[in-house]
Amino acid sequence: MKNFYALIVAAGSGQRFGAETPKQFLPLGGLPVLHHSVRRLQNHPACAGVKVVIAPEHRTAFESVLNGLELVEGGTTRRESVHNGLKAYAQTLPDNALILIHDAARPLLSATDLNALLAALETHPCATLAAAVTDTLYRGAEPIPREGLWAMQTPQAFPLGLILTAHNTAPADQAFTDDVGLMLQNGHHVQFVAACAPNFKITQPQDFAMAQTLLHPETRHGQGFDVHAFDPQTQGVTAIRLCGVDVPFSQKLLGHSDADVGLHALTDALLGAIGTGDIGVHFPPTDAAYKNMDSAVFLAAARDKMVALGGRLINADITLICESPKIGPHREAMQRRIAEILQASPARINIKATTTEGLGFTGRREGIAAQACVSIEFPRQAV
Ligand code: MG
Repeated sequence: MKNFYALIVAAGSGQRFGAETPKQFLPLGGLPVLHHSVRRLQNHPACAGVKVVIAPEHRTAFESVLNGLELVEGGTTRRESVHNGLKAYAQTLPDNALILIHDAARPLLSATDLNALLAALETHPCATLAAAVTDTLYRGAEPIPREGLWAMQTPQAFPLGLILTAHNTAPADQAFTDDVGLMLQNGHHVQFVAACAPNFKITQPQDFAMAQTLLHPETRHGQGFDVHAFDPQTQGVTAIRLCGVDVPFSQKLLGHSDADVGLHALTDALLGAIGTGDIGVHFPPTDAAYKNMDSAVFLAAARDKMVALGGRLINADITLICESPKIGPHREAMQRRIAEILQASPARINIKATTTEGLGFTGRREGIAAQACVSIEFPRQAV
């Protein structure tokens, strides 16, 4: 699969939408519309770069939304804005670089449709997502046969050299509402790829309401389990690390890192909730870098992954299973420490402790087991 560069057009004022804030900056599922449109392309493994075209007057007002994005100044029309973005790319990229031009107001682009577009580009230099028209059409009282009619969507994908030449040579006063039209006029074939998932452009308030429904966060759950054994040969140990807190105890817990069984179970639960494997995948015990590591580092990394994917912790519930040490006196400190690592309210963290009534390895005081469950709010995936 070829690498691509995304050009997101976000310079519109959204006159048809009628809101004071341009629609691309309105919050949708807790994040601005633009954020969704960018992320859907940026998160694809073949995405090699993103530039966003914005109107200069929006730069200051929406700085927080634009944070970290490479910006290009927009023009007075969509065509001029795209042209500016292409010229910016041409400063560093060769003519054969693949550019995907995408509307900022299409926040629902699915991974499936993006992959279908990229697959078409393996055999066609130019391609676009589009939808076959299914409604019956009239112009005034005149019915229009809908056979062969397509409604254009984005991304629209072209080699940089071809699309830039088309922009450079088209008459300045010729209006185009998309780039496919410009390429067709220049005699290039553009492959239409039928979109399977909703990929509409937010144009009217009812579109925004529909996008809100489709992007309403979903709740996800993850669970984790871990065990660490006591070292009966221990000498000179005064404390063990449990749920990020040093708890007085005379036997060491065996482990490659600090052996914090509570944080390990919790990290696994969080990684499970966001669907990214387990602690061993991300922090292999064979890696010398993690020798005696503070397990707060693992939990913080899992939190960062969750945040990067747009997730938010709802609650975490941890159960420590052992005969000793006693957990009760340290429960609040553990709750506070975990809340600190997860950057969440302590009210969302619960620590429980139990014994196994003398049964099994925990009953024989051979080690400690821990279980954890987390719930998170997670952006709804289009597919
Ligand atoms: Mg462990």
